[in-house]
Amino acid sequence: MFNRTLFLSKRYELSHIRSTLLSKRSTPSHFRNMASVVNRPPEKDCTDITPPYTKLTQNLAFVQQKILKDKPLSLAEKILYSHLYDPREYDGGIVRGETYLKLKPDRVAMQDASAQMAILQFMLAGMPTTAVPASIHCDHLIEAFQGANKDVKAAEISNKEIFDFLQSAAEKYGIAFWKPGSGIIHQIVLENYAAPGGLMLGTDSHTPNAGGLGMVAIGVGGADAVDAMADIPWEIKAPKIIGIKLNGSLSKWSSPKDVILNLAGKLTVRGGTGHVLEYFGPGVDTLSCTGMATISNMGAEVGATTTVFPFSNSMYSYLTETRRHTVAEEALKNASYLKADSNVHYDQYIELNLSEIEPHINGPFTPDLSTPISKFAEVVAKNGWKDEVKAGLIGSCTNSSYQDMSRVVSLASQALDKGIQPKGKFFITPGSEQIRATMERDGQTEILEQVGGKILANACGPCIGQWKRTDIKENEENAILTSFNRNFRNRNDNNPNTMNFLASPEIVTTMIFAGKLSFNPMTDALIDKDGEPFKFQSPHGDELPHQGFADGNEDLEPIITVGNSSTKITIPENSSRLQKLEPFSPWHGNEFKELKVLVKVKGKCTTDHISAAGPWLKYKGHLENISNNTLIGALNADNEKINVVKNDLTGKDGNIPEVARYYKENNVPWIIVADHNYGEGSAREHAALQVRYLGCPLIISKSFARIHETNLKKQGVLPLVFKDEKDYELFSGGDIIETVGVVGLEPGKDVIIRVKKHETDKEFEVVTKHTMSKDQIEWFKMGSALNLIANQRF
Ligand code: SF4
Repeated sequence: MFNRTLFLSKRYELSHIRSTLLSKRSTPSHFRNMASVVNRPPEKDCTDITPPYTKLTQNLAFVQQKILKDKPLSLAEKILYSHLYDPREYDGGIVRGETYLKLKPDRVAMQDASAQMAILQFMLAGMPTTAVPASIHCDHLIEAFQGANKDVKAAEISNKEIFDFLQSAAEKYGIAFWKPGSGIIHQIVLENYAAPGGLMLGTDSHTPNAGGLGMVAIGVGGADAVDAMADIPWEIKAPKIIGIKLNGSLSKWSSPKDVILNLAGKLTVRGGTGHVLEYFGPGVDTLSCTGMATISNMGAEVGATTTVFPFSNSMYSYLTETRRHTVAEEALKNASYLKADSNVHYDQYIELNLSEIEPHINGPFTPDLSTPISKFAEVVAKNGWKDEVKAGLIGSCTNSSYQDMSRVVSLASQALDKGIQPKGKFFITPGSEQIRATMERDGQTEILEQVGGKILANACGPCIGQWKRTDIKENEENAILTSFNRNFRNRNDNNPNTMNFLASPEIVTTMIFAGKLSFNPMTDALIDKDGEPFKFQSPHGDELPHQGFADGNEDLEPIITVGNSSTKITIPENSSRLQKLEPFSPWHGNEFKELKVLVKVKGKCTTDHISAAGPWLKYKGHLENISNNTLIGALNADNEKINVVKNDLTGKDGNIPEVARYYKENNVPWIIVADHNYGEGSAREHAALQVRYLGCPLIISKSFARIHETNLKKQGVLPLVFKDEKDYELFSGGDIIETVGVVGLEPGKDVIIRVKKHETDKEFEVVTKHTMSKDQIEWFKMGSALNLIANQRF
């Protein structure tokens, strides 16, 4: 939380100290960081970046006084309610977990893979420019193979039609365009656009990264982004709030990453669903802004709607160092808006003592399998895992701050001095050109390369399966450690037998020097070049660079236009990668009859399982072609096989997309029956678009992940949830169902599913519920949310 007196006294003190500091080369880092605040770098144009605090606080005052009768509010509520489209609509009150909020976001950010579908949909909305500032970031389509420059060049060639399409759309609609190699969406947003108290939508599930700068930033599908860009109220159910009080301060080996790795173990991948994670307490003031961004980023791993931190000294410093002092000062003036009210009630309350959190290692295959490092060697032995680390990967949008890198370099320097080399591949992914250039200027890159590390492009690369791996055989069982955020099976290298563990950059670095999964740098020694035992000293590093951030390659600065209606959006004819969208058909107005269960999915079914990334990323702009990956990672409960279902029309087994397409061609609509948290993971709306495109009008599950449930609704697919989850057991592939209650669908009203077993003709009924609001029911009736927008606009 911001302490103005403390900050100003430090500034005063520092302005006196500064002349002394400048004459000394070895300066305590905390003084140097603050000194650079006094001597701040040239300012960016903050006009579009500064939240409209006056309007927001007026809105909030109206909601809090007139509607909520002066009830104390959490920070997330303050930010959300101040962004209500029309606060007067809520005179019946706002109830967390119940009321649908219609919001007006301040900004939209899109990454290149999801931007394609977002733009294709926005083109149908008929707008001349976007209604709010927006940005496109080319980061997902760059394969990690030969190193930064070669990989970016290769991507520019292989993805030329996609980048040309996005750039032309950006020019037409006035969207900032960040070229390949400029950086990863969330790091660029943190460095340029995030602002305390703002509301942003991003077409990527780790958009909450900006919560480290006090912004409510929410990952959504492209159709939601289209709402904001088309000036349509964006709707979300008022989230519940998990209050997390931080006490103490992190010990030397622990980092902000360990806070969220620890919390993921407590909350599990579903624990945050429908909730915002809101941090507060004295421990917040001990964290860097970028550290809070890491924690916010990975709130997505527990299914949280978003994460937010209150305005703090470190946010002020970071804003100023990234040339947004105007935003810092405006936030400071509105500091009371940027923290929770006292005596606020949280739906859940968690208290963490940072001093007690030790480094954690989470995985494999799920981010909530959390083990403190002191117990990890036991876990390795108990599971009989080979005690070897094949690759260590650090960086990405989650962990490539200056602080992360300087702490890593402090460890790499020790290894270099002792002649110790990494025992496997060691890759470093800078999050942005600004970080890359600053690392290079400050000698960090040189040390990392001398020690055997390879700097990859400022892009997602191995984090999203864009890793051309040459150090193992196909499907070889092996273990890797990453400081990324997500570790579902196949995620990094498309090898189902790669065990992927998540840890802080510091722990990943020490473990790649050890080459062993069982290594604990806090207690274990390595052998140096002279045969002597060597123990790492704990890492240390600077929160912000002493000389400010370096600008980097000016060719990678964004292309900014105000919009140009004469620009033609380039979609090559007969492209296999881009295809104009056709609107989906409206609902036929009757109950559904003769729907066939295509597959009953067992267990975890993430958006990676429903619409795989890796090699499929190239078809993100071509719905027909990418639909060939639909559900190829799903486990069929009937035969315990992945991507194998019986085609009930031919009696033969086939893969899921092939059979779905066969049903579509034969006018047989089909459904999916799914387990818990169906669609967890990313904001990938293809997972909804594809099933809709292939002929699926409804899905029944034990529960849905939030973003995916919304994505389904947006695309006109009805997400139904078993009232009694045991009913899941009654279904199998090939069953025929019909609905009772879709005609006359209303919020809160159940839908009955009549089932006819395909083997026995036995019939029965089950009850399902749904979370469709009145507006969402209109989307369903119109065939999609976009159809409704287009209908209203033309
Ligand atoms: Fe890219 Fe990975 Fe970050 Fe997603 S999580 S934006 S894939 S670096």
